[in-house]
Amino acid sequence: MTKSLNAAGWSPTSWRAKPIVQVPDYADRALLAAVEDDLATWPPLAIADEIRRLRRQLGRIADRKAFLLQGGDCAESFAEHSANQIRDFFRIFLSMAVVLTHSAGLPVVKVGRIAGQFAKPRSSSVERRDGLELPSYRGDIINGFDFTAESREPNPERMRMVYRQSAATLNLLRGFAHGGYAKLERVQGWMVEFLADSPVAERFAEVADRISEALDFMAACGLTAETVPQLQSVDFYTSHEALLLPYEEALTREDSVEGGWYDTSAHMVWIGDRTRQLDHAHIEYVRGIANPIGLKCGPSLDADGLLRLIDTLDPRNEAGRLTLIARFGADKVGRHLPDLVRAVAREGRNVVWSCDPMHGNGITSTSGHKTRPFDKILSEVQSFFEIHRAEGSWAGGVHLEMTGKNVTECIGGAVAIQEADLGQQYDTACDPRLNAAQALELAFLVAAELKK
Ligand code: PEP
Ligand code: MN
Repeated sequence: MTKSLNAAGWSPTSWRAKPIVQVPDYADRALLAAVEDDLATWPPLAIADEIRRLRRQLGRIADRKAFLLQGGDCAESFAEHSANQIRDFFRIFLSMAVVLTHSAGLPVVKVGRIAGQFAKPRSSSVERRDGLELPSYRGDIINGFDFTAESREPNPERMRMVYRQSAATLNLLRGFAHGGYAKLERVQGWMVEFLADSPVAERFAEVADRISEALDFMAACGLTAETVPQLQSVDFYTSHEALLLPYEEALTREDSVEGGWYDTSAHMVWIGDRTRQLDHAHIEYVRGIANPIGLKCGPSLDADGLLRLIDTLDPRNEAGRLTLIARFGADKVGRHLPDLVRAVAREGRNVVWSCDPMHGNGITSTSGHKTRPFDKILSEVQSFFEIHRAEGSWAGGVHLEMTGKNVTECIGGAVAIQEADLGQQYDTACDPRLNAAQALELAFLVAAELKK
C-alpha cells in the first residue's frame, strides 16, 4: 500500500507510535494481525463521494443554513439486530427530521449513530461483581456482555462480525432512504404503531396533514416525486465513535478519484470525551482522514485546549470538517459552554456546534438502573440554544441516544416513565436511550427553539 502523506507526518498507521487509552489488549496478536489484513481488503462501507457530500451539507450548517440531527443507540449489539428494529429507528428518525424541517423551515442533515457504533470507552477497565473481577464490557466489537471470563476476553474476530452486521444494516438503510420508503408522500405512514393515539402521535399527525396538503398543492402545480428528486428520497448518513483504531485503520482507503484518505467505516466519525488528548493516538488518526469529524466537548475541556484541538483537526478552517459536540450536563452547561463558544467565535473558526444532552445527565436510580431524567435532557438543550442566542452563534444540531422502540430507559417525558417502570423494558447494553415517544417529543421542543 502506498502511504502518501496527507497531513504532515501522517499515515493511516501513524497513530500506532502515540500513547493510547481505552483500547483492549489482545492476547492473540497473530489473530489480530490476520483480521486486520483481511478487513483491509474488504469493500468500503461508506463511499468517498457520499462522505464529501455530507461534508458539504455540514458546511451549510456552519453557514447557519441547515441543522444537524444525529442519533441512535449508545451501542449497537449482535443480539439486537433485526429488520424491524432498524425500520422503527429509521421511521422515528425521519419523523423527527420532518418535524424540524417543517417547523423551522430548514434542511436537516440526517446522521445515524448506526451501522458501526459498537466500541465503548469505559470509566473503569474492570468490573467487580460478587467478589469476582473481570475486564469491563467494551462493546460487541471488542468483548461480550456476559459476566464470564471467556466472554470478557477481547476477541479480534468480533471486528469481522461488526463489519458484516454494519454492511447489512447499511444496505437496509440505503434501501429505505432511496427505495421509496422515505418518499415524503408516505409521511402519514411513518408513525410507529405502538404510539397510535398518544399525544405526540397526534401532534405528528397534524404536521403530516399539513405536509400532505402542501404536496397536493405542489402536485396540482405539476411538481411530484417523479419530477422533484428531493421528494423521492433522503440523504441518510452513518456515524460512530472512532475508538477501536485497528478496525478504523483497516477501513481507511485512499480515494482513487480525487485522492485523500477516507475512513470508509462510516461517513462521519467522532472522538469521545475520554480519548481527545492532543498528543494521543485517537487525535493523530482522525487528523489525517478527510471525513467530517465530531469532537465531544465535556467539562474538562477549556478554551485553550479546544483551540489547540481545532488547529490540529481543522488547520484549513473548512466549514463542515469539524462538529463540536457539547456534552456538559444541564447543571454545568451554563458554566462551561459560553467560554468555548466565545473562543471559537473570536478565532473565526468555522465549526458546527451540536448539543449532546445525554452524556452529562446520567444518574443511577434507586432500583440500580443507569438512567437519565428527560427534564434534564430538555433543560440542557434549552440552555444550549439560549447560550448560542446570547453569543450570536448558531446552535447547529443535536446528538442523541435514542431508539425507535418503546423502551423504559430514561425517566420522564409526556408518557411519564417512573423509576419503578425502568425494569419493564430496559434493553440497552450500555447507556439509557430516549424511547420513540421521548425522541419525537424532543424534536418538537428543538423545533420550537429553532423558531425563536
Ligand atoms: C457516547 O457517545 O456514547 C460517549 C461515550 O460519549 P462521551 O465520549 O461524550 O462520554
Ligand atoms: Mn453513550
